[in-house]
Formats: sequence, structure tokens, C-alpha cells
Amino acid sequence: MNIENNEVKSLNFIEEIIEHDNETGKHNKRVLTRFPPEPNGFLHIGHAKSICLNFGLGKKYSGATNLRFDDTNPTTEKVDYVNSIQNDVRWLGFEWDGEVKYASDYFENLYTCAQTLIKKGLAYVDFSSPDDIAKQKGTPTQAGTGNAYRETSAEENLSLFEKMRKGEFKDGECVLRAKIDMASPNMLLRDPVIYRIKRAHHHRTGDNWCIYPMYDFAHPISDALEGITHSICTLEFEPHRPFYEWLLAELGLYNSQQIEFARLNLTYTVMSKRKMLKLVEKQLVNSWDDPRMPTISGMRRRGYTAKAIRDFAVAVGISKRESMLDVSLLEHFIREDLNKISKRVMAVIDPIKVVISNYETGKTELLPAENNPEDSNAGHRELSFSNTIFIEREDFNENPPKGYFKLTPNGYVRLKHAYIIKCEELIKDENGNLVEIRASYVENSKSGSDTSGLKVKGVIHWVDANNYHPVQINWYDRLLTIENAADIPEDEEFTDYINPNSLKTITAWGEKSLADAKAGEHFQFMRKGYFCVDTESAAAAPIFNLTVELKDSWAKELKKQS
Ligand code: ATP
Ligand code: MG
Repeated sequence: MNIENNEVKSLNFIEEIIEHDNETGKHNKRVLTRFPPEPNGFLHIGHAKSICLNFGLGKKYSGATNLRFDDTNPTTEKVDYVNSIQNDVRWLGFEWDGEVKYASDYFENLYTCAQTLIKKGLAYVDFSSPDDIAKQKGTPTQAGTGNAYRETSAEENLSLFEKMRKGEFKDGECVLRAKIDMASPNMLLRDPVIYRIKRAHHHRTGDNWCIYPMYDFAHPISDALEGITHSICTLEFEPHRPFYEWLLAELGLYNSQQIEFARLNLTYTVMSKRKMLKLVEKQLVNSWDDPRMPTISGMRRRGYTAKAIRDFAVAVGISKRESMLDVSLLEHFIREDLNKISKRVMAVIDPIKVVISNYETGKTELLPAENNPEDSNAGHRELSFSNTIFIEREDFNENPPKGYFKLTPNGYVRLKHAYIIKCEELIKDENGNLVEIRASYVENSKSGSDTSGLKVKGVIHWVDANNYHPVQINWYDRLLTIENAADIPEDEEFTDYINPNSLKTITAWGEKSLADAKAGEHFQFMRKGYFCVDTESAAAAPIFNLTVELKDSWAKELKKQS
């Protein structure tokens, strides 16, 4: 795994290219990047990495970044997706240059570009069936073969292409292909299709067009028309670059420089809009922004912060080699940020009742508790304490192993922000299950004014059983049961690997202050984890989404490396 240190001196390879270009004046020292999503789904954490990279470079080099929707495939694209994508980019903390741009803004220019190719004898209308076109393409080891349509005159092709636009042919009846080289070792140069007929309503251009440009044709031309200097994309586009370069040279357009980097992959999840759509459609999750989803909107709802995601994107750096990142590394960055901003509260998930026999029945005491030791401005709140409290069942052990510092028979433990208690007696039901603990409290042991002289190692959380607030929790776990979704055999469905325990709904016993929790607010349930109040749940019945548990397997590892 490659964690680059985030220091000014270490440039990543794209920054090196840009700095070199600025030195040589290649793009007139301009830096204009773009983020070009296809609006066919919600964005995921991989896109977040691309956003941070593109907008980050725009900012760093005093340039700018365009947001351009690659909306060339109307059958899968939706306005809802367009809106959610803009929302996600802004939430991540970035702003695009000028108006939002769309490949569909350039449909007319793209059409003219296609005509230019035809006039130069570099594009032709092909009526072969898709099967025949595929067969004629050859294989990686065998050259393709041209067909008779390659020989049609430019005049004839111009007229046929115009008829395509006018709707004189059926969907799929013919395509426009670039005429390059059917024997090229690069299959993508074997006369790629650049226009197809598709009678589909477009979310922006309506029914104006029945022909749509292919992505590989529209993308480099859109970059050129916008004057993009550095066109950053993922590795799979490397073999497409020769076609882009051929196209722009033949059209005499600005040659945006394409630079490829390895996509982000994360363990225990899927990272493809097609697969995420399947999860939504099959109702295996509740929505695109289900907190289990790897979507930016799902992560936001779960309680991930934009800052943590940006920090993660910078820390993992960029590379030229595909790799799989441990999702717990992302979680490490989430904790780092939440630790600074979350209000500490106490909630007991699996309670056992403790009755404090020497504490006056009916009495309630208010004890001060700091809201966040990491933030001196976070203030204090008051916790109520009485003779009956709940503690976590796992914080008591009748047969403690060596070194166990929580509550044990006749042992002492400190209640956070409150008193030291001693376990005096166990009450069990007829099956021998523990149902209640009787304890005593040490009177002069109150936190902040402890004069008891007792040395007690264990500190546990608790909630006043006479004054608590019930808390609805969505307890999330990994989406998949398999670490690397790419390991799923061809003949199996990835949906068979959905973790049946990815969501558990539970009720916890929370301190009273949680009654005032606001949607989107972050909390640390002490010793348990970080939680965020769901933004989609009703204010009257707020749900606390588990953002991440407290245990961090990366903290030590990263310290070692730095
Ligand atoms: P998916 O494969 O998830 O459907 P996509 O590549 O089809 O994604 P686009 O909308 O075309 O989605 O992506 C917009 C931009 O985000 C592209 O520049 C793409 O290279 C980048 N991107 C997509 N997935 C990742 C990823 N996993 N890591 C980094 N960048 C990504
Ligand atoms: Mg794509």
C-alpha cells in the first residue's frame, strides 16, 4: 500500500507534469482541468477521489476546473443524477468554473466535426449489422478487415449522415464510423463508431436529436472546445488516447493533454454505478444514499465528513498501478476528523441494571460533563445521576481474566463523570442469568473532587435509568461479505455476497441530552463509536446512524510509517 506523505516537497506525478508544462509554457502556463461524470447514477468515493484531484489541481495552480456532464447516452441519464452530482461536488467543498457544462451543449459542434471528417474522407456511414461490424474488427492478434462501405464517396456519406440526423433510418440501421486503420494493433483505431441512431428523449435536448455521438468522439472534442489543459482520467482510457489524438489532429483542435491514473478500489464494497444501480433496483439497499452505499451521498448520511474524505484522497495519493485499498484506512480518516468535532455523550447499547443501595432513593444529582475534550469551546452539559443506572453488559465480568479493569464481583470501577462504585451483589433469574447488579457508591469519589484516595483503573460509561432517552440506532456493517468484489467468480452474482448483517436496527439507552439532537449532528457515544443523526428520518423519531466504531486498526500503523 502506498500512503504518500502530504508534504509540499513531494509532488505526485501529475503535479510534476503540470509544473514541467508551466516551466516550458506548454499550455501558456494555464491549468484548466475538468470533472466529467456521466449522469447515470450517484457519485461514489472513487469519483470523490477524482473530484479532489481535479479541483485540487485547479486550485493549487491558480487555474480552474469545469464540471461537465458527459450526457451522450440519454437512455441511462436523468436530471436527478445531474442534481445529486452537483450537490456532491459542492458538499465536498469545490466550486466549478462558470456555468455547469454539458457535452450536449456541443451536439451541434460535434455534428459539424463529424461532417469535417466525412469531407476529409475520414468517416463513413456503415449499414453492416452490429454482428458483422464486430466480426470485421478482428481480434487483438488478428487484423480486422474493411468492408465496402469504407469506399463510399464523401458526398454520398455527407448526404447519408444528414439523413441519419433527419431520422430517415431506423434505430441501429446504420452508424457513422471514423476511417482509420482496420489493421491497427490498437483495436480502438479499427474504424471506431462515432455516431449511432437512437430515438431517445434527452433530458436537455429533448427530441431534437435522434443521433447521438459516442463517448470517445464527444469527450476529446468537448475537452478541446473548453480548452482543457490537463484531461485527467482513469487508466482504462490509456488505449483510447491514440484515437483522441488522431481525432483532434485531423480536426485541428486544441490538444488537451490526457493523463491517466489508477482508479480507487475499496475493500468490502462495489465501485461501479451499474452495480450500485442494481442494489437500488433490487431493493437490496434502500436508496442511492443508503448509508451502506459507497456513494458520496450515502457516506454523508452515514456521518462521513467532507474534510475526512478530502484528507483521505490526498493521503492515498495517486499512482499508475491498480490497487485495492482497505476501507478501514478511509475509516481512520473519518475518526480523525470526528474526534475533533463530535460531542461526547453516553449511551448504553446492551444494558444491565445497577442499583446503588447506599444512594438515596428518589434523589437526582446533576453532574457536569465536558462536551468534547478536544475542543475547548464545546462547553459542558449536565448528566443526571440517581440510585439506578444502566451500564454495558460487557462491562461486567463475573470471572474476569487477568488485567480486566471493568466491573467484577466485589471490584471497583469509575463511572465516567460520576462516582466510583463497588459491586456488592449479583441478582440472577431462575436460569442463572444476571438480571441486576447491586452496588454501593464511594461518597467522596465524585469526578473532579475525588478525595477517596482509591486507585481505580477502569472507567465505564453509564446512563441514569431514572432519566434516560431511548435512542434508535441503525448499526451498519460492511456492505459485502467478500473483501475484494473482483474475486467473485464469473458465474456468480455479486448480490449473493451482500452482508445480511449490514444493517441492524437497535434501541439504546442514551443520556437525556440526546433528546435535543439535530439532523446531521455528530456524536461520539463514548467507548462505542461515532454516530450521526440521519437527515432523512423524522425529527420526531430521529435515527442515529453508526458512522464508524471507535476501534482503529490504522492509527498505530500510520504512526509507525510517519
Ligand atoms: P463507474 O465505473 O463507477 O460507473 P464511470 O467511470 O463510468 O464510473 P464517470 O461518470 O464516467 O463514471 O466518471 C467520472 C470521472 O470519475 C471519470 O473521469 C472517471 O475516470 C472518474 N472515476 C470513476 N471511477 C473512479 C474511481 N474508482 N477512482 C477514481 N476515479 C474514478
Ligand atoms: Mg465512464
